[in-house]
Amino acid sequence: MAIIDEIKSAATLVHQIGNMDLYKKILEIQAQALDLMENNLRFKKENQALREELEISGKLVCEKDAYWSSTDDKKDGPFCTRCWDADRKLVRLHKLTGNQAYSKCPNCAANPIKLNPEMERKSTFVRNDYDPLA
Ligand SMILES: [Zn+2]
Repeated sequence: MAIIDEIKSAATLVHQIGNMDLYKKILEIQAQALDLMENNLRFKKENQALREELEISGKLVCEKDAYWSSTDDKKDGPFCTRCWDADRKLVRLHKLTGNQAYSKCPNCAANPIKLNPEMERKSTFVRNDYDPLA
């Protein structure tokens, strides 16, 4: 805020000597400086958010219709592709309670995806040891 303090000092001096036209001009410059500072802060925040988004994007790998974050030897996920692609939100998928072979996004209405086919719930029970003639 050093520039604002300097402008205020200049405005005070000009006010003391009674040059009202110059005083008004300095106040206009002060308002413009404040706008520039606000814009600068907003751009810094947007830049930080974009950097973070870019870093996440660089780590995402799409497998089985889900995103996985892959860093060095660590793999994290699965995450919803729809939420990341459309809204840039990294939302972890949850296994369905009824059938854990499928996972669903808790944030959006994307269709459940089959990530763990080995956990498919059998709808019929098959007994191999049953012999009707025994
Ligand atoms: Zn989603």
